[in-house]
Amino acid sequence: MAPGQPARPASGSASEVALSVVVPVFNEEAVLVEFQRRLNAVLVGLGVRYEVVYVDDGSTDQTAHLLQRLQRSHPGISYARLTRNFGKEAAMSAGLQLASGEAVVVIDADLQDPPELLPAMLAAWRGGADVVNMRRRERLGESWWKRATASAFYHFIERVSDVPIARHVGDFRLFSRRAVDALNQLPERGRFMKGLFAWIGYPQATIDYERSARAAGETKWPFLKLVGLAFDGITAFSAAPLKVATLFGVASAGSAFAYAMFFFFKALILGDAVQGFPTLIVTMLFLGGLQLLCMGMLGEYVARIFTETKGRPVYLIDVYEPATVPSNASAGQ
Ligand code: UDP
Ligand code: MG
Repeated sequence: MAPGQPARPASGSASEVALSVVVPVFNEEAVLVEFQRRLNAVLVGLGVRYEVVYVDDGSTDQTAHLLQRLQRSHPGISYARLTRNFGKEAAMSAGLQLASGEAVVVIDADLQDPPELLPAMLAAWRGGADVVNMRRRERLGESWWKRATASAFYHFIERVSDVPIARHVGDFRLFSRRAVDALNQLPERGRFMKGLFAWIGYPQATIDYERSARAAGETKWPFLKLVGLAFDGITAFSAAPLKVATLFGVASAGSAFAYAMFFFFKALILGDAVQGFPTLIVTMLFLGGLQLLCMGMLGEYVARIFTETKGRPVYLIDVYEPATVPSNASAGQ
């Protein structure tokens, strides 16, 4: 458990709740009620004890109000509000800490991940998988630019990462209790969840699905934030960029040497007076740029070491209202 976090709620020990559904939420007033309606319809049909853990990631719209109202009217809902917007990765980490189910599903609130797939996920879990990955066949409602950059990112990280990070699998997944316990043990502050999910290993299953367009509201991931996430992922799961710097160094030093030899013999044999101001300036700028680039790459890692050494908690909880009973009442059992 992350330092400074509240202990797991008293209600619903691991044996009482079969399924926890963790939902990170940030300014989703437009879809929340519809999401809960669809999710609830599926959960009731499952006939297992469940809880829904909503983590409000410092929303500034009516989300907090709506969630508190839902929490009061549905016995199976827990509501945790973070003290500010910590980002989806932190909100998911909070939800995974608070979830007490034997199986835990992480799902987006915007209905891009259809709750109707829960029975198939549970079936795969019962079939022995500790992690059920949901792979997107289609990414409806996403621009070609987002699809292209996402695809480039997955290709790149697949090549450089120390652990195989599944392509086109987002955060919509199911985890067994032991997989969640393993995730909760990981102490890092930089939480690139797709990487951590892959890192834990365990038997995995994959289900393909059509990812629908967002039901309402807007994406909370503007392009630059996604680029930041991509950087976090690459630096957390690969030292390849650092090695690239070494390669650059060796290559440029090698070519500089060859070039020097060339001039030496040219001057010696042809008696050519040294001119080459343009060559000089281009070489200088090229090397200067390369050095800055490599320093920048180093800096990316140093910055992350800095964050880790401070050892601050990943998130802070402001309000926590646990599920009143591990709900099977609303499941009709
Ligand atoms: N989210 C969050 N904190 C954030 C950003 C997003 O908890 O800082 C939640 C958001 O409410 C949604 C999920 O993460 O439930 C996915 O976000 P979004 O749909 O905006 O991402 P996209 O599907 O566009 O990648
Ligand atoms: Mg979305």
